[in-house]
Amino acid sequence: MSMLKYLIGLMLDGGVILGNKYLYDKKTVCPVCKKEFTYTKVRSSQLKVEERERDFYTKYKDGINPFFYEVIVCPNCGYAALESEFDRITNDKKEKILSLVTAKWVKREFSGERTPQKALEAYLLALYCSQIKEDKPIVFSKTCLRIAWIYRILNDKANEEKYLKYALDSYIKAYSGSDIYEEEVLLIYMIAELNRMLGNREEALKWYNKVINHPDRSRHNLIVNLARDGWQSLKE
Ligand SMILES: [Zn+2]
Repeated sequence: MSMLKYLIGLMLDGGVILGNKYLYDKKTVCPVCKKEFTYTKVRSSQLKVEERERDFYTKYKDGINPFFYEVIVCPNCGYAALESEFDRITNDKKEKILSLVTAKWVKREFSGERTPQKALEAYLLALYCSQIKEDKPIVFSKTCLRIAWIYRILNDKANEEKYLKYALDSYIKAYSGSDIYEEEVLLIYMIAELNRMLGNREEALKWYNKVINHPDRSRHNLIVNLARDGWQSLKE
């Protein structure tokens, strides 16, 4: 086999195997424009963790980034949201999406394998729609944190920090708001961790302490241990 054929073979194999092994397509109906479309999901049972960072950004074997596919984008009208939030939209917000997003939308496809750039485009759209929908701060922080991860992958430090800061502000809003979160310990930990990443040492220590001394700490060993590590790293 010639070298060229061999290389082309590798490239084709890589693409096909990746597509078959981790990704599959699903159909849904858009709650805004009512049209059916296909989006791509990740087979999470196939994933093997390589490394997990302290803000839960996780590297998987074969370079697959499952969070790239957590945003669904309707190719017809441009409505985008995290999968868990996709069907949560009121009638008046649908009208707003139609006038603010769809009116300017150029039809394009988001199914299939996503590059970091394609994932970023999907997430920025979801963030814009989320603002229009006036989603809860926790949805906003989740979206911004994932945008920061994409910039981390792209080695864009300035934008990574910008979105970590947005995520932090929304986590604080979520914490001080009236909503009660089942995952309060995780929420407090994220506030501590993002403060540490952004260089706010005193704030980070204060929030790590809240995790370590939380009344529910015995049910959250993993997070409490991460908080202890974080606290320790700032004391050294
Ligand atoms: Zn639509």
